[in-house]
Amino acid sequence: MRLAKRVEKLPPYLFVEISRKIAEKKARGEEVISFAIGDPDIPTPKHVIDRLCEAARDPANHRYPESDSLPQLRRAVAQWYERRFGLSFDPNKEVLPLIGSKEGIGHIAFCFIGSGDIALVPDPGYPVYSVSALLADGEPYYLPLREENNWLPDLDAIPKDVLEKARLLWINYPNNPTAAVADLEFFNRAVHFAKQHDLVVCHDGPYTEVAYDGYQPVSFMQADGAMDIGVEFHSLSKSYNMTGWRIGMAVGNATMINALMRLKSNLDSGIPQAIQYAAIEALNGPQDCIHEHNAIYERRRNLIIEVLNDIGLKAEPPKASLYIWAKVPEGYNSMDFTADLLDQVGVAVTPGVGYGKSGEGYVRLSLTIPDAALVKGLSRLANWRSTRR
Ligand SMILES: *Cc1c(COP(=O)(O)O)cnc(C)c1O
Repeated sequence: MRLAKRVEKLPPYLFVEISRKIAEKKARGEEVISFAIGDPDIPTPKHVIDRLCEAARDPANHRYPESDSLPQLRRAVAQWYERRFGLSFDPNKEVLPLIGSKEGIGHIAFCFIGSGDIALVPDPGYPVYSVSALLADGEPYYLPLREENNWLPDLDAIPKDVLEKARLLWINYPNNPTAAVADLEFFNRAVHFAKQHDLVVCHDGPYTEVAYDGYQPVSFMQADGAMDIGVEFHSLSKSYNMTGWRIGMAVGNATMINALMRLKSNLDSGIPQAIQYAAIEALNGPQDCIHEHNAIYERRRNLIIEVLNDIGLKAEPPKASLYIWAKVPEGYNSMDFTADLLDQVGVAVTPGVGYGKSGEGYVRLSLTIPDAALVKGLSRLANWRSTRR
């Protein structure tokens, strides 16, 4: 059988080795405590599930949904953006619900990237930005995120020949995996840069609601001129613990939104309607759950940071996102260190290099670990130091 080249050039799964080790340990009956899963452990809020169940029983929701979703959902998204960021979007032209934001992130490459075109993607970064460029017969060009630059890409360092072929700039703040945040000044610079070089900007912002110490992330769409050249992807996954229901959205420039809608209408048949009603409930309903969840993550964050620093890993407490980005101890790279933690104390973390070359030297720990496992995991981490030869 001959597979198309685009499938063959899909990058190998970088965590094969680690996943194999975890599976072996589990097969031997050993318990592995995982800080590697970026998926909220707390259930979807009850009022959202109640609405979902009610909507699931209504036969009107058993049929094909519209590609552009229920108008009430597009309105709920626009109203949420208005309340949260003071932005106004036309629900009919500037809002598009998605089957999880990953779906839209993957598909938008096909609207802007063709053969020989370049997508500018952060390194380390969410793998879909680069893989979607490859699938669209283009190429990713990696923008290293470095600590000395506050984990922001250095746009002025992009070579001229790359810029000539570049069509699309990906940015993502609060960032996964580095947990870095960006302010409006950076977003303004990104818009200016994109206009100068005839790029579109796609901002991936699923963590704008997951923040600590009273910090409130901004939206990329608040930047001057963002509406002219950009869209923002957002999601109910991380804000409302709804990863399993698959619902997100894109908002922004009407031409970009329309292009994505036209493409999608040929590939999928919309979001199951009961899930759309659940999303409307989440967006319009009480928002206390967000503060409650953030308080839980903040407490876990503080406990983890303390232990990491005690055992000699340098890590700053993140202002937002679900992650801690920690520098591995001297003498290790991120794969070695991950393997050592797993072998010595049965704790799984994610090696930074899995998110790109520039993630080397770091590991990612997730705050989505249930409290009982967290307590065990922390005491195992604390013991790691005594296992060092
Ligand atoms: C979780 C995540 C997403 C995808 O979320 P969906 O569940 O598909 O809405 C997108 N980007 C980043 C950086 C993420 O961490």
